[in-house]
Amino acid sequence: MMLGFLLARDGHHVTVLEKHKDFFRDFRGDTIHPSTLQLMHEFGLLGAFLALPHQQITGLSIAIGGHSIPMADFSQLPTQAKFIALMPQWDFLDFLAAQATKLPTFRLLMEHEATSLIEDHNHRVTGVHVNTPSGSVDIPATLVVGCDGRHSISRASGRLPVQETGVPIDILWFRLSRGEGDPGNALGNINYGNFLILIDRGDYFQCGFLIAKGSFTSHIQPAGLPAFRNSLTHLVPFLGAKDSNGKARVDEITDWSQLKLLSIQVNRLTRWHRPGLLCIGDAAHAMSPIGGIGINLAIQDAVAAARILSPTLSTGIVTELTLGHIQDRRELPTRITQAFQITVHYFLNKTLGNPAPIKPPLLLRLLSPHPFFRHTLARFIGMGIRPEHIESH
Ligand SMILES: Cc1cc2nc3c(=O)[nH]c(=O)nc-3n(C[C@H](O)[C@H](O)[C@H](O)COP(=O)(O)OP(=O)(O)OC[C@H]3O[C@@H](n4cnc5c(N)ncnc54)[C@H](O)[C@@H]3O)c2cc1C
Repeated sequence: MMLGFLLARDGHHVTVLEKHKDFFRDFRGDTIHPSTLQLMHEFGLLGAFLALPHQQITGLSIAIGGHSIPMADFSQLPTQAKFIALMPQWDFLDFLAAQATKLPTFRLLMEHEATSLIEDHNHRVTGVHVNTPSGSVDIPATLVVGCDGRHSISRASGRLPVQETGVPIDILWFRLSRGEGDPGNALGNINYGNFLILIDRGDYFQCGFLIAKGSFTSHIQPAGLPAFRNSLTHLVPFLGAKDSNGKARVDEITDWSQLKLLSIQVNRLTRWHRPGLLCIGDAAHAMSPIGGIGINLAIQDAVAAARILSPTLSTGIVTELTLGHIQDRRELPTRITQAFQITVHYFLNKTLGNPAPIKPPLLLRLLSPHPFFRHTLARFIGMGIRPEHIESH
């Protein structure tokens, strides 16, 4: 959507395909980073964007063994908005779509699922086969950009080579209601072999419970729902506090169907392109939720791609050299960000499933009080490596 918006702003004809009939997907996080807010500022849209319901977090902390450790402080970032905006991603996408559809060369086709690529006799990609509610259509294109996420058909159909990184964790995704006075910051809580992330969505928490891969069916489900609720309460006691009706937040989970098991992947294409095709975002490099940085990276890819593509699209020919420039520009930030996520996975894997209480690691206790550490981490999470900017119009 971001790439489509930017290319249409430059007067290029863009068609964005979305297989669902709306953007109401719960499973891809809600974090709009300072770098994305900065882009909104550069578009002149920041005020309108922040008028949408959202929460602002100026810092990130993690509770390790019950001790809250401040990790990132966004207040010193060299950006207009010095916070992460928590906004459901469907609101963000609806906002972008509303801006983009004002542009005469932009078209958004909902319930249009790309099923495979069209290739000419030289194996150049020349469009996509698409399923719609009224049948199949072929959509020709000078360039197909696969932005179809971690289960991308464009990367599979384009036979682009994938390098997988083993991920030792999965995540259970569910909601619990949020009361007045509950913590507002996105908070990770880790202790007793469990890790719970609570994302403030106003009147409810979007909860992510990290588990060792495969342990949902082998351990968690067999132990039963009461044990699962107890593990949440043990980790975050306020979730077990009874209200005036004698009900605790964890009692809202009455059936396993309320939990969605999401498999975490970290991988990347060794080549993001072939003639007529480019992949960006999770389609080029699937990201873990760790650090909440995948959305940021996908948007940064889109901005770099728009800047590099726009001049050549006007000629009607996009060469492999141009597509290679986009990969060159974005590969290093991807590698560094994934290396960070893989390192965190490694430490989490050592902790998950070990029921002993833990203490914050010495290194974190030493580093966390220093503003330099918190500002550097804020820059990494909030801006990413090599933040992209749009050219002013
Ligand atoms: C559980 C979980 C939580 C996460 N939380 C966060 C977080 O808080 N913050 C963060 O920054 N990152 C988070 N991430 C990572 C983040 O979700 C991704 O990195 C990010 O969404 C990638 O954006 P994208 O646009 O490349 O792909 P996606 O967001 O996956 O978007 C792909 C789009 O393409 C559509 N699509 C797919 N296939 C087709 C098709 N064949 N035809 C047409 N349309 C299609 C999909 O419906 C979707 O709208 C999380 C990941 C997971 C697994």
